[in-house]
Amino acid sequence: MFNALIVNKDEDSGLASAAVEQIDLDQLPEGNVTVAVDYSTVNYKDGLCLSPKGGGLVRNYPHIPGIDFAGTVEASEDDRYKPGDKVVLTGWRVGEAYWGGYTQKARVKADWLVPLPAGLDTRQAMAVGTAGFTAMLAVMALEDHGMKPGQGPVLVTGAAGGVGSVATAILANLGYEVAGVTGRPETEEYLRSLGATQIVARDELNETVKRPLESETWAGCVDAVGGEMLARVLGQMKYGGSVAAVGLAGGAGLPATVIPFLLRGVNLLGIDSVMQPYDNRVRAWERLATDLPMDKLEAMVKPAVLSDLPQLGADILKGQVQGRVVVDVN
Ligand code: NDP
Repeated sequence: MFNALIVNKDEDSGLASAAVEQIDLDQLPEGNVTVAVDYSTVNYKDGLCLSPKGGGLVRNYPHIPGIDFAGTVEASEDDRYKPGDKVVLTGWRVGEAYWGGYTQKARVKADWLVPLPAGLDTRQAMAVGTAGFTAMLAVMALEDHGMKPGQGPVLVTGAAGGVGSVATAILANLGYEVAGVTGRPETEEYLRSLGATQIVARDELNETVKRPLESETWAGCVDAVGGEMLARVLGQMKYGGSVAAVGLAGGAGLPATVIPFLLRGVNLLGIDSVMQPYDNRVRAWERLATDLPMDKLEAMVKPAVLSDLPQLGADILKGQVQGRVVVDVN
């Protein structure tokens, strides 16, 4: 028997709630690799999956959430993995449509796993998690579209959140001048410790677009917020600059004009971590191991255990989690 955070739905109220329960290996779903999980984490999506209505993501109950995990292969029917291998899993709708990482043991498809890169342990991999992995994908996409240090400040929105914190630390380490947008002024010292040199108050960018073009300010942007903030940022990009659209913490709408695309050659790059092809996953994890300073990663970490997760899920939906939560499932 082992521990897992199980979400059950109450048939009368139709609402789901989570509690730590004991289950056995026979209850795990089909899959060709069984992993002894060391750590998981909390992303915005985990907050949705833990919420009473499952955030529209969870299809079946009982459910084990946790969109990320890292651990050690215990049994494998796939040639690519053998017992003892360290692995990490993010995406593929694990923790949403399939049982996830809030458990001491998980059974999954080998195709979903990535070998843990040299230079990262399983705890560090979960300090990174989907949020950090996505931040790296965003930086890679911006670089692939010509962003280089020295072109001007790079904006990170939702800077004190998970994606934003990791993006800030990576960009600063690569030599970029980083401006962080936050709605929490009390996080300024934290953001400066990650390498941000400019702090922008959320209110400055949360207003509806009035002029399609404002002064050319940002050489690039990692945007975790979307909505009106993304629309404003598009009009503030330098000529030829790119925005990596990662998240919707501020809204799924995009009340923008096409003028920044037409007159300034601005690029809007979509970033998806869930269905990201294997080769680019490996590339991103290897870059994380080299380009994200581990002391800064450590400064973002808040430790937690399985029983903390219902509260943490509610907190992240309210934008109240700073940096990255690492869940020790054991
Ligand atoms: P967090 O909650 O950790 O971070 C989001 C941050 O956005 C908050 O910390 C806050 O930052 C800011 N924020 C929250 N609400 C608002 C608001 N109403 N207006 C403006 N800013 C706001 O979440 P994650 O970092 O894990 O995820 C960020 C976003 O990215 C989410 O929307 C998530 O769904 C998405 N995402 C997408 C992925 C993909 O594959 N494309 C993968 C991972 C995440 P501050 O307090 O500093 O203002």
